[in-house]
Amino acid sequence: MEQIAVVGAGTMGNGIAHVLAQNGYKVNLVDLHAEQLQKGMQTIARNLERQVAKGSLTDEAKKSTLQNITALQDLNSGVKLADLVIEAATENVSVKLDIFRQLDEVTGPDAILATNTSSISITKIAAATKRPGAVIGMHFMNPVPVMKLVEIINGYGTLPETTNTIVELTKKLGKIPCIVNDYPGFIANRILMPMINEAIYSLYESVAGVEEIDTVMRLGMAHPMGPLQLADFIGLDVCLSILQVLHNGFGNPKYAPCPLLVNMVAAGKMGIKTGEGFYTYTPGSKELVVSEQFRK
Ligand code: NAD
Repeated sequence: MEQIAVVGAGTMGNGIAHVLAQNGYKVNLVDLHAEQLQKGMQTIARNLERQVAKGSLTDEAKKSTLQNITALQDLNSGVKLADLVIEAATENVSVKLDIFRQLDEVTGPDAILATNTSSISITKIAAATKRPGAVIGMHFMNPVPVMKLVEIINGYGTLPETTNTIVELTKKLGKIPCIVNDYPGFIANRILMPMINEAIYSLYESVAGVEEIDTVMRLGMAHPMGPLQLADFIGLDVCLSILQVLHNGFGNPKYAPCPLLVNMVAAGKMGIKTGEGFYTYTPGSKELVVSEQFRK
């Protein structure tokens, strides 16, 4: 495997491109929006610089990593020569189905089509193509350059050789693969999102404030980050989409998204990426400041 395309240059796509390129793969990073591509490339450069400053990467390796990445807006030219495409576009079923229909048309017959979806059915995505055996979930964790786990999700028709190729690639990237089956939320988000939703319900019902909820989970459960801070980090729109997939997929009201989460997303408060969620974020500052809305 030499040429890999990553579709979507947002939070996850730029991290995936970073890790692939750092491990010597030629990567085409594709996004519909020029601004997102530019932001994604800037994030990669900044994160590589941080690795150099920490002494975990040489300046040479930083340069060659950046040289391995080509940023493109046109999907067709970005993916047509790829041995593997990793889709990391917006968590929306119709967006993903459209992309996979197009990938199936444009890529070579042997290309593997992977998705970084957090929750959408791999089997459903695979059914939009004529190669369901070569479609698989490759669910990286955020931030991709730091987190070791890759949850690998077999769709109903994923062939063992597809899984083996993706497991081997994951190991070459220095990550740990964990293979799971295709049911709503897989493992990571089936367990994580109800916890985040419950934390938002606790705030909504005034059981405690933002800081108290996060402090209980950090100090009491040894979580490195409280659930509300983690939700801001993931993106509240992403959390909402995943909860909707769990709710629809299982038909169980226990997964219904908290109305406060729905309201915050409707108001454009998506967490770090929009500068405000449960906390407010100022570029260059690491201080956690509870959003005005939730101050007592
Ligand atoms: P994001 O909103 O930061 O980025 C999505 C990007 O996709 C945007 O730049 C957008 O312009 C681009 N895009 C949308 N439609 C496109 C198209 N048709 N072609 C090309 N680009 C397109 O989202 P994200 O947080 O990076 O999430 C991406 C995927 O990764 C989602 O499926 C999400 O569920 C999954 N994921 C997210 C996290 C997380 O912590 N944010 C963790 C694991 C997995």
